[in-house]
Amino acid sequence: MVMAPGKASAVVVSGPSGSGKTTLIKHLMLRYPNSHFSISATTRALRGEEVDGVDYRFISREKFESLRDSGDMLEWAEVHGEFYGTPRKEVLKALDQDLHVFLDIDVQGGLQVKEALGSRAWLLYVLPPDRKTLETRLRSRGTEDEAKVALRLANALGELAELPHYDAVVVNDDLALAVDQADELMRNRQHNENEWFSSGGREILKERFGLDLP
Ligand code: ADP
Ligand code: 5GP
Repeated sequence: MVMAPGKASAVVVSGPSGSGKTTLIKHLMLRYPNSHFSISATTRALRGEEVDGVDYRFISREKFESLRDSGDMLEWAEVHGEFYGTPRKEVLKALDQDLHVFLDIDVQGGLQVKEALGSRAWLLYVLPPDRKTLETRLRSRGTEDEAKVALRLANALGELAELPHYDAVVVNDDLALAVDQADELMRNRQHNENEWFSSGGREILKERFGLDLP
């Protein structure tokens, strides 16, 4: 199924930490002026150049639990030992205004958004070229200490296993090419067809990530 032109979507972008989700979303948003970034709430500490209220809303665990329990989250998950969630109202409001909403969220959250929004959600998976490159990028970003890098790498395989449930995949090797490909995929938003996985992607995951998916 292809989305009707002009109809805005919740564009869910997922992939292992360091695969390039933040970078790709920033570039894609420049090409889609009618778009909105969903600012997640998180219990993790602010890092690097991040700004509270711009990159995330940094909140306490108590506050997170209270928002979650009162139904204010469209989805939420525990990721790398911290809580992350998407404020429901903002996403629905932006969609009502016919704005594309970009969500940089993990695979557990992505599947919840698909469940909640059906065909109004489109799920894009960002795959790093291979395991080694992922590790190099994550380290060279320099925002996590060694223990956190190790945890994020260990969690990468679990996140990769959900790739077949996504609508489309972009391999983030050369950035400019990846932005063009993601843009093209987004313009033709296909649902439930993950052509990348069925036409050679399964073998790529096996060769480059040691992951054998059915
Ligand atoms: P994520 O949001 O998925 O955790 P980031 O967007 O923060 O990943 O990217 C991780 C690191 O890799 C950053 O330092 C970013 O500048 C770098 N990066 C992203 N895409 C590429 C690319 N195609 N080539 C080289 N470096 C990249
Ligand atoms: P980071 O700490 O690197 O910013 O994000 C860690 C992981 O949490 C990434 O996979 C990111 O996509 C995910 N994440 C960020 N915000 C949310 C959210 O609101 N919900 C969910 N489920 N995951 C999120």
